[in-house]
This record gives sequence, structure tokens and C-alpha cells, in this order.
Amino acid sequence: MATGKIGVTTENIFPVIKKFLYSDHEIFLRELVSNAVDASQKIRTLSTFGEFKGELGTLDVRVTLDKEAGTLTVSDRGIGMDAEDIDKYINQIAFSGAEEFLAKYKDNAANIIGHFGLGFYSAFMVSKKVVINSLSYKEGAEPVRWSCDGSPEFTLEKGDRTDRGTDIILYIDDDSKEFLEQARIDTLLRKYCRFLPVPVISGKQQEWKDGAMVDTDRDNVINSTEPQWMKKPSELTDDDYRAFYHELYPGQDDPLFWIHLNVDYPFTLTGILFFPKIKNNFEVTKNRIQLYCNQVYVTDSVEGVVPDFMMLLQGVIDSPDIPLNVSRSYLQSDTAVKKISTYITKKVSSRLEDLFKADRKAFEGKWPDIRIFIEYGMLTDEKFRDAAMKFCLLEDTDHKFFTLDEYKTLVEPAQTDKNGDIIYLYTTDPVGQYNYIKAANDRGYNVLLMDGQLDTHFVSLLEQKFEKTRLVRVDSDVVDRLIAKDNERTVNLTPTQRNILTTMFNSQTPTVEKAMFMVSFEALAPEDMPIVITQDEYMRRMKDMAALQPGMSFYGEMPDSYTLVVNTSNPLIEKLRDSSDKALAAKVEPLDRTIDSNNAKIEELRKAAPDGKLDAVAQKQSNELTEQNERARSDRELIISAYAGEQPLVRQLIDLALLGNGLLKGKDLSAFIARSVKLL
Ligand code: ADP
Repeated sequence: MATGKIGVTTENIFPVIKKFLYSDHEIFLRELVSNAVDASQKIRTLSTFGEFKGELGTLDVRVTLDKEAGTLTVSDRGIGMDAEDIDKYINQIAFSGAEEFLAKYKDNAANIIGHFGLGFYSAFMVSKKVVINSLSYKEGAEPVRWSCDGSPEFTLEKGDRTDRGTDIILYIDDDSKEFLEQARIDTLLRKYCRFLPVPVISGKQQEWKDGAMVDTDRDNVINSTEPQWMKKPSELTDDDYRAFYHELYPGQDDPLFWIHLNVDYPFTLTGILFFPKIKNNFEVTKNRIQLYCNQVYVTDSVEGVVPDFMMLLQGVIDSPDIPLNVSRSYLQSDTAVKKISTYITKKVSSRLEDLFKADRKAFEGKWPDIRIFIEYGMLTDEKFRDAAMKFCLLEDTDHKFFTLDEYKTLVEPAQTDKNGDIIYLYTTDPVGQYNYIKAANDRGYNVLLMDGQLDTHFVSLLEQKFEKTRLVRVDSDVVDRLIAKDNERTVNLTPTQRNILTTMFNSQTPTVEKAMFMVSFEALAPEDMPIVITQDEYMRRMKDMAALQPGMSFYGEMPDSYTLVVNTSNPLIEKLRDSSDKALAAKVEPLDRTIDSNNAKIEELRKAAPDGKLDAVAQKQSNELTEQNERARSDRELIISAYAGEQPLVRQLIDLALLGNGLLKGKDLSAFIARSVKLL
């Protein structure tokens, strides 16, 4: 028997590592099983090249639990190790790796979480003692038994293994007893080892017998050794892909389509990405791509490896070229990773383009599901955006689809305004904005459907991308003014009429929660509605944007500002204009004249004063005139509102417009209904 000291300078490193790696203890199993699988594959390779001439036999890797002895054993029939190998690979290499690791991460515990590649030595995270029992494949090799209790001291003696291969026996620590539970181990193996290339066996398959689950004599094989992504696309049918998808994500709808990745230069990468049905709940489906390294599961957090928008996809990426033992920020600046990310983006966009070209109808059918993905990609990834210009679709309110070019051609003739800008009209709510859509359609305008989650941003993106193009929500102005043409009609109102009507409508507009109204006048077509309510595009977009941004919520709290556009060409408004003029002009005009002449006097006083600074006498005069004006204004308002209150038509017209916008509610709505009945 030989004893020795492992070449680690830091005394007793294991407690330190244990503490640091607390959250990630379970990866020891991945490490040991991977080593066992590697050893098994090596013997197969040696046999293929004739360097090993004996019987290969079965190469299964077994994980065995012995609760009584408190051990977990990983056994393989791989190449095994002799004393020399153990010294070289375990005493020197494995532990020098540990030393390096410690030096690097001593001061930065956070970096350690998620660290990959601790290798054999991670066994000590869960064990008080580790034993290696091994017999090398080499002819005449002696079995060896290595043992170490977590101190830097080990023993190496003659072992008792009689057939080729290695047992790694872990004497599980008291605080890691969970790893002696079959269920826990099976769960971990299914997580990390599900697609390893050599059969991994954990216990026996069970069956239901006499009211309990009992072991059968059939081995419980954890993995499928030839996962679909390692096969050639030509070997796989659509059903194979779908079956694989369901194996990865049980209980999900069929994927829409998939992309088989396969490169070996300038980096090695295989994988299959699936487009899931995303619909609108994309938050929940993020982070579903699984990252593998030579068929060993590593993580499902692929941030940095694929562009952000790709995280909406599902599937598997397998690459030994992704450095896994580094921090995320390093990952993003790594050139290999950048190339991988670019490659994946290119593959995905060319696949989408192919699908679009091959079967446009089918592509359109899938559009509602892939739209959020494509829009997200276009918003966040410039390369993808440029590629996607070819297959990105716009959908109109009749559910017809257009490419960006097609749509431009469609609307250019009718929807170019007098400045030569093409105006794209859109709706965010085809039901609520129905009246406006209809008015626009009647005018020969097309209206786009922009009711998706990302469309607020997407509308801005389209505006940036297209020259001389603006996107305008269909209810942001009256139809005549949505697309400004040369033939605008002028509003035919005297200043007095304008004043009277403004006050009349203002005084009769009900208070609506979180809404503000302004009255304006337009000469629309006589057959257009008497009053139309519009919402300013700019203000509305500011609010929509703010609502999506943290810390800007005060914008969201502001009331929505609407305009009551009074159509002065509508016969009802003309009637109202004439009758109110007749009834009120005689009373209102003297007040207006007083106000005008007082204002003129105040102006004169100011002009007469040096530097516009009034002396005490002039200031007093000016104050009196101002007060007089205030009284006159309030008198005028009282007279007009009193009159307006007696004209049910005024309130009726306002309510009709509010109703068309879903703004008439509660007791205002029932008053409207009662009034309507009366008017009938
Ligand atoms: P890595 O696997 O990253 O090289 P490890 O610390 O896991 O590092 O293992 C160190 C070396 O020990 C391996 O490269 C291998 O040569 C040897 N080894 C570990 N486990 C086994 C095994 N089950 N059979 C044969 N050799 C092994």
C-alpha cells in the first residue's frame, strides 16, 4: 500500500469548495457519469482501431445505491486505470485542476455558481470518502484501489476488480443523504444524462404488484443513446421531429415547424430548434432551449448563446465549442459564441424565408403564432431585421396578408397625403374602433391590424424603416384629416358662433373617468357624423410607450385626451348653430364687445406706461377692467350653458359620439337611453 499527498497547496480545500458550491452539488453525478461514458467510448474506439483486442462486451454505465453502506457507485466497463494512470490523471491532473479553480474563484463566490467541468473531483462535494476501484484494459494490468477522505492525503493499494473498467464509490456525506434516494438520482440522471451516447442504468424498472411498486429484473435505462439531433435530417420524418419535441416538452401542442442545425466548421454545433405555438403569452415560454455539450445536458439558460428573441424557441443546441465554465458577460464577448449566435440567426431567418416561399398560404396560417417572434426579432436584432423584411407580413382588418413591399404598392395611390407621405392606417382594437375603420374603408383606405403585444414598438420600427411613411391610428383624427389632401373644406362659423358652440358643447360634456375633452370644428362631409371623438396619435403613443417602461408610470396615470370634433357641415349642427345664434347672439354679443373693449383699454394702459410698468393708478384701472372681464365671461358662460342645458339635442349628440367610443357608461348611459326614448 502506498500513501501520498495530493499536489494541492491549499490545505484541506474540500470544505471551502463545498461551501462555495452549495447550490450546485448535484452536478457531481453529471461529471462522474460523463467520465464513465467517456471511458466506455474510448475502449470502443481503441477496439475499432485494433489497439484493444479483447471482448468489448456490454458497455453500460451503472449507477447503484446502497443505502445501508451509505454509498453511491458509478460503474463502467471502459478503459479503466492502472496505478500510473491514477497518479497521472487523478492525483496530478484532477487535483491540479482543483487548485487552479480555487485560486481563480477564491474571491468571487458568485462566479462559481453554474461552473462546469469540475470533473472527478466534484465527487467530494457530497462525499466524506471516495474510492476508485479500477482495472485497466492494458494487458497484464493490476487492479488498483485508490481512496481519499477529503484531506489532501490518499492511499493507493492493490484492488479487487476482476473485469475491465472502473467503479467510483462515493461514501455520501451526512448532509447529502438525498443522493442515496433512488427517486432523486433518477431525476438527476434524466435531467443530465438523458441523451448520453452509452446506456446509463439506474436500478431496475418497477411494476405494480400486490398494491405496491416492486423492482422487476429489467434494467432501468435512463437515456436514449442516439438523440434525434445527432442524426442526419434525411433520416428523420416529420413525425420523428414531432415525437422528439413531445419527448422534450410533454403536454405541449405540436410545434409549428423546426430547424435542424448541423455545422462542423468553423465550430461544431448540432441541434434542433422548434417553433412552439407562442400566441401571446411569450413570457412563460422563454428559456426553454436546452444546451448540451457532447450530449451531456448543461443548462437551459441560453442567454448570451442565442440572441434574445430566439429564447422564445424551444429545442436543443449541442456544441463543445461553447465555453461553459465562464461568466455570462464573457460568453457574450467570446468570438466563437458570437459566430454561433450569428449562424443560428441566419439559419432561422433563411428557414423562415424558405417556408414563406414554399407555401405562402401555410405561412400565413401560422402567422398569428410566429408574429410575436418575428416582430421581437426585428426589434432587437439588426441582422434578423434585414433578413425578415422579405417575409414579415402585415395583416389588415379583413385578415388579408401583405409583404411590406406589397402593402406599400397597395396603399400608395389612395393613401398618399398632400405632402407626398404615405399614411398607413392601423387599429389596435378592431371592435372598439369599428366606426373609424368603417369610415376609413368607405373612403377607400386600408386599415392594418396592430393589436399584438409588441405592436406599439413595431409601429415605430416600420416608420423608421420606411421613408416618407407615417403610421396613424385610425381613430386619431376624423377620416378627412387622417390623410390630409388638398381639397379641405373650410369651417363656416363667425367668431361668435364658434364661441357659443364651444361653450355649449363644453358645458354639456359629462365627466368621464381618466378622460379629458377638447372641442374643435371641422367641415366634414354633410353625411358624416355630427360629432366624432378622436385621440391624438402623438399623446397616445407617448402613453403607450410609457406604460411599457418601468419608472414612467406617471404618464400612464395621466388622463387620455380626446377631441370632440364637431362637423359644421352636418345638418344637425347647422341647425344648432342657427338656433343658438338666434337665441343667444343678442345677449352674448354685448358681453363680447365689453370684453374686447376692456382688453383694448388694458393694452393701451400698458403701452402708455414706461417699460410697460404700470403706476399705482393705472394698475388699479387695469385690475378693475380685468375683473369686469371675468364677470362678463362668467355671465356669458352661464347664459350659454343654461341655454345648452335646455336643448336635449346637444347632450344627445355628445352622448352618441361617446357611445361610439365606449366612453358612455353608468348613469350617463341610462340618462342617454331615457332621453333617447323621450326624443323618439
Ligand atoms: P476531465 O474528465 O475533464 O478530463 P476529470 O477530473 O473528470 O477531468 O478526470 C480526470 C481524468 O481521470 C480523465 O481525463 C480520465 O483520464 C480519468 N478518469 C476519470 N474517470 C474515469 C473513468 N471512469 N474511467 C477511466 N478514466 C477516468
